[in-house]
Amino acid sequence: MTPRDDILTPTPLDDDRAFDDQIRPQRLADFPGQDPIKEKLTIAIQAAKQRKEPLDHLLLSGPPGLGKTTLARILANEMGVDIKQSAGPVIERQADLSAILTSLEDFDILFIDEIHRLNHAVEETLYAAMEDFEVDIMLGRGPTARSMKIGLKPFTLIGATTRAGLLTPPLRARFGDTCRFEFYTPAELERILLRSARILDVPIETEGAGEIATRSRGTARVANRLLRRVRDFAQVKGDGVITREVAAAALKLLRIDDLGLDDMDRLIISTVIEKFSGGPVGLSSLAVAVGEERQTLEEVHEPYLIQIGFLKRTPQGRMATSLAYKHFGLQPPPTPRQQLF
Ligand code: ADP
Repeated sequence: MTPRDDILTPTPLDDDRAFDDQIRPQRLADFPGQDPIKEKLTIAIQAAKQRKEPLDHLLLSGPPGLGKTTLARILANEMGVDIKQSAGPVIERQADLSAILTSLEDFDILFIDEIHRLNHAVEETLYAAMEDFEVDIMLGRGPTARSMKIGLKPFTLIGATTRAGLLTPPLRARFGDTCRFEFYTPAELERILLRSARILDVPIETEGAGEIATRSRGTARVANRLLRRVRDFAQVKGDGVITREVAAAALKLLRIDDLGLDDMDRLIISTVIEKFSGGPVGLSSLAVAVGEERQTLEEVHEPYLIQIGFLKRTPQGRMATSLAYKHFGLQPPPTPRQQLF
């Protein structure tokens, strides 16, 4: 069986693809940051190679843009195997998944992004594939249809998710290990930026990279995207070199503040504060109020706002913290205790 082309990614998420491919690290040694993950994977790779076995199935979790896809590709390079890439919402039918699985060669990696969004039937097919390396294939149609078990070559499933909590327990249990990606520190982002700039031949001073790094919301993808914008600015408004001053002026123009917050982040916080008296406000109401998809709010914007302590998730809804009030120069509402006096 040959898998349909449209099921296998690499989906051109945006026109950044060519740029992305150019600067994507290919080896673990070129991948700055995420040290605990790299340490344990270095051992796992060596052990699997020595035993001549595929890597254990692996779940990568964390906010978008931290390098989950990149790491999956690196693992394929390090193991010297092929990688096939798809995504949870794209694999609609069991047959689509079976076609991909039967096309895998020994020890190949199947990378499924957004694995928490697989539908139930497809997910069940995955169980036997992960555990016993076999799939049921339907032969024929209608009343004469019958199913047949087909053995698969030993492979590694790497699932990526921005919402590890949404994975069903049976699926989660079938992964040998989970790697939780953390936001990058400014120092790590600086290394990422200096590396990307070197590959792209962009003249940049360390202080310039530092300025972009502190405003990249702890996210490698954001850092690389800002690098491109700042490069344009340096070329048009300066002499092409990204200095601290050039970076600061470019980021000001892009309306990115000292903490890396953009217009949407500011809108989210100011909406919670002004329209919902600081919260708690439910995610759906907040999404309607700011005109953004619920999922984007939850997976893209919130994690960083929570990380920097501006937003709190409570069982009643989202709340702005006193830190957020201060950032906007506002007086936080009195706490219930203060109100008593
Ligand atoms: P995710 O799959 O977690 O959404 P990606 O792997 O697609 O993230 O990474 C997004 C972008 O950030 C890519 O352009 C990738 O090259 C870059 N990137 C991610 N992590 C790193 C890293 N540690 N070092 C250098 N670049 C990175």
